[in-house]
Amino acid sequence: MIYLDYSATTPVSYDVLDSYNKATREFIGNPNSIHSLGKKSRDLIESATNQIADLFKVLPSEIIYTSGATEANNLALIGIMQKYKSRGNHIIVSKLEHPSIYAICDYLESLGFKVSYVNNNEEGLIDFEDLRRKIRPETIMVSICGVNSETGVRQPLKTIRQIIKKENVLTLLHSDLTQAIGKVSVNLHDVDLASFSGHKLFGPKGIGVLYKSDKLEIEPLIKGSSNHESIRPGTPALPLIVSLAKALRIALVDLDKKEMYVKRLNDKIVEELSIYPDIKFNRTKYSIPHILNLSLGNIRGETFVHAMEAHNIYISSNTACSSGNLSTSVMALYNDTKRAMSTIRISISSITTNDEINKFIEAFKEEYSKLNELK
Ligand code: PMP
Repeated sequence: MIYLDYSATTPVSYDVLDSYNKATREFIGNPNSIHSLGKKSRDLIESATNQIADLFKVLPSEIIYTSGATEANNLALIGIMQKYKSRGNHIIVSKLEHPSIYAICDYLESLGFKVSYVNNNEEGLIDFEDLRRKIRPETIMVSICGVNSETGVRQPLKTIRQIIKKENVLTLLHSDLTQAIGKVSVNLHDVDLASFSGHKLFGPKGIGVLYKSDKLEIEPLIKGSSNHESIRPGTPALPLIVSLAKALRIALVDLDKKEMYVKRLNDKIVEELSIYPDIKFNRTKYSIPHILNLSLGNIRGETFVHAMEAHNIYISSNTACSSGNLSTSVMALYNDTKRAMSTIRISISSITTNDEINKFIEAFKEEYSKLNELK
């Protein structure tokens, strides 16, 4: 099998799995229990949270565990808009967000909040002037995806935050960093809130984080437990939390070196497939190398995904989460329906080998020629 869909999800690393098993076997107490087994579990969670906080140079109290990035996005947007509704009713998001953000915006609109969509330029970067224009006194929050899941376009969050704060010092910046963390270096101090997920960085599925600056309050989405302080009440998922800490510790080592390696693999694919005039590379100078998006002209993305599957090679058409045929991110970049209908996404990781890339290129050429002849 050749797996080139790491942006959809990653396999769990064995070291992470060992941590999961050990934590499950040896820490059976409920972290909320007052006896010593409970305290032992509580201490382990505290140590995992301290490790995560240290990795990002933030406070342990700024790490909120969720079931994944979708939940973290929900908590960030709904929890903040509800908490600060006395300040206003307006949120701004980009046109390069994950589908979960748009679903949350629809929900916020149904509650009476107003949503604006900021434009991007042809390189995929947020249009700073448009952002400036759209910020109003009643804008509570701006949410901008740090790395777009389809095209890999990365946003300059620090600059975006400076622009926002200059227009309205009370407006908060949230970023969905699900495709950034574990791939490229990020600074959580560039944003007020950030979401990410364990299963994109060789951790288990079912665990994510909302980073929330301690200066902010948030309305919990979930009610429960006697602990009224808790933003996400319920029994903490101890083995998942420990595994996430382990996965992050591994993922963040030698990040730049791993990125350079992935870039070489990406460059190789681009070089080999550039011989086809009908293939368009949906990337800009701001795309990270882990994500390579192509449009295949007359061939539908879905058709090609299945053709590659016959070679035991796994790629994707749109993001795993959006089942539609049209890539919204490619539309936002090029405003070209045909181009957005025929996209595939190849996502590479630091465990991808040269041999896998060579075999992928070989199978790609075979299937591309075959399908083109049929057309
Ligand atoms: N945001 C982005 C940018 C993503 O790529 C994904 C996963 N496709 C999500 C959010 C959702 O993450 P999760 O599966 O952890 O809910």
